[in-house]
Amino acid sequence: MTDQYPAQAPTSEALFNRARALVPGGVNSPVRAFRSVGGTPRFMVRGNGPWLFDADGRRYADLVSSWGPLILGHAHPEVVSAVQAAAARGTSFGTPTPGEVDLAEEIVARTPVERVRLVNSGTEATMSAIRLARGWTGRSKIVKFAGCYHGHVDALLASAGSGVATLGLPDSPGVTGAAASETIVLPYNDLAAVREAFALAGEQIAAVITEAAAGNMGVIAPRDGFNAGLAEIAHAHGALLILDEVMTGFRVSRSGWAGLEPVDADLYTYGKVMGGGLPAAAFGGRAEIMERLAPAGPVYQAGTLSGNPLACAAGLATLRLCDDGVYRRLGALAEQIGTLASRALSKEGVPHRLSCAGNMFSVFFTAPPASPDDEVTDYAGAQRQDVAAFRAFFHAMLANGVYLPPSAYEAWFVSAALDAEAVGAIEAALPVAAAAAAAARGGGAR
Ligand SMILES: *Cc1c(COP(=O)(O)O)cnc(C)c1O
Repeated sequence: MTDQYPAQAPTSEALFNRARALVPGGVNSPVRAFRSVGGTPRFMVRGNGPWLFDADGRRYADLVSSWGPLILGHAHPEVVSAVQAAAARGTSFGTPTPGEVDLAEEIVARTPVERVRLVNSGTEATMSAIRLARGWTGRSKIVKFAGCYHGHVDALLASAGSGVATLGLPDSPGVTGAAASETIVLPYNDLAAVREAFALAGEQIAAVITEAAAGNMGVIAPRDGFNAGLAEIAHAHGALLILDEVMTGFRVSRSGWAGLEPVDADLYTYGKVMGGGLPAAAFGGRAEIMERLAPAGPVYQAGTLSGNPLACAAGLATLRLCDDGVYRRLGALAEQIGTLASRALSKEGVPHRLSCAGNMFSVFFTAPPASPDDEVTDYAGAQRQDVAAFRAFFHAMLANGVYLPPSAYEAWFVSAALDAEAVGAIEAALPVAAAAAAAARGGGAR
């Protein structure tokens, strides 16, 4: 592998050393640090279409797409010119701006939401949706599912207790027991557990929050009727359903997961794609609930840079380019690349499972199901992975010019910019990586 690197110390290495002296762990978001795969994170200096370029002068076909937002690929000319034009008019005014109205109209037109509030990150969106749900219902408890990630909101960084209706335990120092104890953590895809939790504490539960399709423990689709069942149970007890579409929103269809499966949710959260690579996110829902937000109502929520003109311009340009053709292309690419990966792993006898939800997919490095019941349907299933095999697979893909998420628990994101050359690069790297995974199986390869 060493012959692939420049002779002198690679620049990413030097940058990472500088960064580590300045920033905890050398990164501004943990999964970027390569902790779960080992090695030095690549510092990227440029992106163009399907390609990423690192500080060491290497090129990668990108299957991370900035963790979802870059659905059209890097530096799409129309998105770049929209941002340039907005920047030339001024970067922020602290007043309402026309772009916010345009973006809100685009979101309301595409999704089930009647009113929307723009924020800066998915974390802010879920945090605010939960506050609003609590304000609306006058109740305190939240139901979430183990393995679902909703940003680093205190109350949502709880996933420990996995039994029915166990109180959440903090996942992180600094999250108080009081904050976590308002969170009931249940196994994903388990409606019986939800019914039981509501039977025990129904009148204290403000909301159920779920990823529209799980994408943060690897990709796990909701079972048929799971999301609909959540709405039904929550509503029967006077609680709300918050459908977190930060990952799925505007990625799996023009309107997100709701476009594939109508779900009678009360509040929805968006982020990632809707910012077109700039920080923008949103939450929205039924008008009567959203009108409880300040300044229309008493539930406080605010943001100095919310609805930023550059972010709105990038988001609007991206959404307007995402027509049916783009979604057809994303679906075809996801299927093609997922199938290629699965075939390469099968050929080397690496146990795995390709798991899809719309055009999101990931590969679990786990034994194939003996029966349909052994499918990966929840976090416990996702955790039965051969991490050593994934690590070897990841590094071989990287060495061969393909940038995968540096964790066995993340979705692979295709962009519409993936062309024949980029797909060819992925196809060429897969057999090498599958062989590396086969060699590393069950071991402590590094
Ligand atoms: C990424 C993500 C978030 C958090 O968004 P940030 O912008 O990283 O704060 C919340 N929910 C889901 C489902 C996500 O995938």
